[in-house]
Formats: sequence, structure tokens, C-alpha cells
Amino acid sequence: MIATGIGWDVHRLVPGRPLILGGVTVDSELGLDGHSDADVLTHAVIDALLGAIGAGDIGEHFPDTDEEWRGADSLALLRHVDALLGERGAAVVNVDATIMLERPKLLDHKPTMRANLADVLGLAPERVNVKATRGEGMGFVGRIEGAAALAIATIELPGVTA
Ligand code: MG
Repeated sequence: MIATGIGWDVHRLVPGRPLILGGVTVDSELGLDGHSDADVLTHAVIDALLGAIGAGDIGEHFPDTDEEWRGADSLALLRHVDALLGERGAAVVNVDATIMLERPKLLDHKPTMRANLADVLGLAPERVNVKATRGEGMGFVGRIEGAAALAIATIELPGVTA
């Protein structure tokens, strides 16, 4: 059986925090606020994968009330989810994601982001696509109040019939 899942996440942009996206620290005067490293892209990917296997959401697996996840490297959280996929016999077909961030431009960083995510998931980088778009001055993204990310994951569950 083929299954898909979606993921969506937002984090507030604040001074004094690193801007980490797909495990890449991007040079920026503002960073994303959150309990973990606030890697909005990786969080959306995690939720898409959890959705595809019907395993709830990131907040259920890594509660923001749990000190274990304070400042957590979100790629490590993704590694936990990859292990869960393995337990369920799920093989990731592909992941596609879009980051919504007004600035800075992410063009130079996207290849490393997809390589980082693909590496954790044991996939070729071509199977993990990362796109970036701006808010064109509109909404919370355009006003540089925060960043958002949207992801979709497709998985295969061999031997499972719909
Ligand atoms: Mg998040």
C-alpha cells in the first residue's frame, strides 16, 4: 500500500536565536523560537511522515513539556521517527517540502538541507525536495514575524493492502 501524510509547522522569528532549517544553521539576525531547536522544516517533515503511517503528530511523540526535548536537534527527532517507520515496515518513497520565510534567501542552503534530511531517512537526496518561498510582504511570513513549512511524504507499506 502507498500512503501519504502532510505536515505543517510555524515558529516565531526572534532575536538571539539561531535560524536552523533542515539541520542547517543559516546566517540571520533573527532565529526561530521554540522548545527544541525550532527547525520548522524538519518539524513539518516529521509530521508528514507520522501522518503517512497514522502515528499522530510531533507533539504527541516529543512533548514541549518534556525537558528531554529542550533545545533538541530536530534531526535527532527525525531519526526517532525514521526508526518508528522502520518498526512499521514503512519505506519512504519521497518527501517534498516548502519553507515560507521572508529572508534571508535560502537558495544556497537548500542542497544541504535536503542532503541532511535524506541522510537521516537513508534516501538519495533526489527523493527529498526542499523549496523556499517568501510572503511578499503579506501575512506573518511577509511581516517577518515567523516562518512556516509545509511537507508531504509518500511511503510504501509492503504487504499491507488498503
Ligand atoms: Mg515546530
